[in-house]
Amino acid sequence: MTHFICSTCGTQFSESDGPPPACPICEDDRQFVPQSGQDWTDMAILDQTYAVAWNEEAEGVHSLQISPYFGIGQRAFLIEGPDGNILWDCLSLVDQASRARIAAMGGLSAIAISHPHFYSSMIEWSAAAGGVPIHLHADDAGWAQRPGAALRPWTGETLQIGAATMIRCGGHFEGSSVLHCPWLEDGHGALFVGDTMQVTMDRRYVSFMRSYPNLIPLNASAVNRISEAVQPYRFEAIYGAFQGRTVERNGNHVVGSSAQRYIQAITG
Ligand SMILES: [Zn+2]
Ligand SMILES: [Zn+2]
Repeated sequence: MTHFICSTCGTQFSESDGPPPACPICEDDRQFVPQSGQDWTDMAILDQTYAVAWNEEAEGVHSLQISPYFGIGQRAFLIEGPDGNILWDCLSLVDQASRARIAAMGGLSAIAISHPHFYSSMIEWSAAAGGVPIHLHADDAGWAQRPGAALRPWTGETLQIGAATMIRCGGHFEGSSVLHCPWLEDGHGALFVGDTMQVTMDRRYVSFMRSYPNLIPLNASAVNRISEAVQPYRFEAIYGAFQGRTVERNGNHVVGSSAQRYIQAITG
């Protein structure tokens, strides 16, 4: 029996004798099955070929990314906080070096995940840190391909995780969420956005899509809803899901002006 991992999107599945017949995450209209067909791997195979690369992005903010590139290629973040370390978003591989590093940093207090594309191997990351709770929005919990006791689906619009606030914005997924950490940036705050918003290549704007690979936009009311959900919270930095995609300053203004630009573009 193996916990198979989809090589395209990096999602780990419940135990089975053979590879699952299909990956519902990849078959959804937000993702894709490659032309060569679906391909499967597992944690032991990944561990032989890949490692988790750590990078200190700012004081108290470490990005984690599988190297070389695997699956969607997202970065997760270990965020040092006043109530312990939070792992924001997640990866398919848990390697020994990361286990040791997290233990040396005092472990994790919680895992929080923006949306199903980054559920990846969340159950194994939780187990590696002593079974810490995994917070994900209940509206998306049905997408979890490997359920487990650590899952804590939450309902409503916000969830307090110590000093951090998880904010449901919707859009990309119904439960798509971001994480606000007010203590970062010398108390000016930082926002971790997953795919709920994507920091653009110029790092001066964010964008909003139902699907990034398949280029499906959102409508004006969805974009307004995302922007309005985060405006009560003050933040300078915006950490996007991909390497180098970080807005360093004026986060609130960036989200507001990005929503305005987007809505102008789609309404004419
Ligand atoms: Zn998949
Ligand atoms: Zn996504």
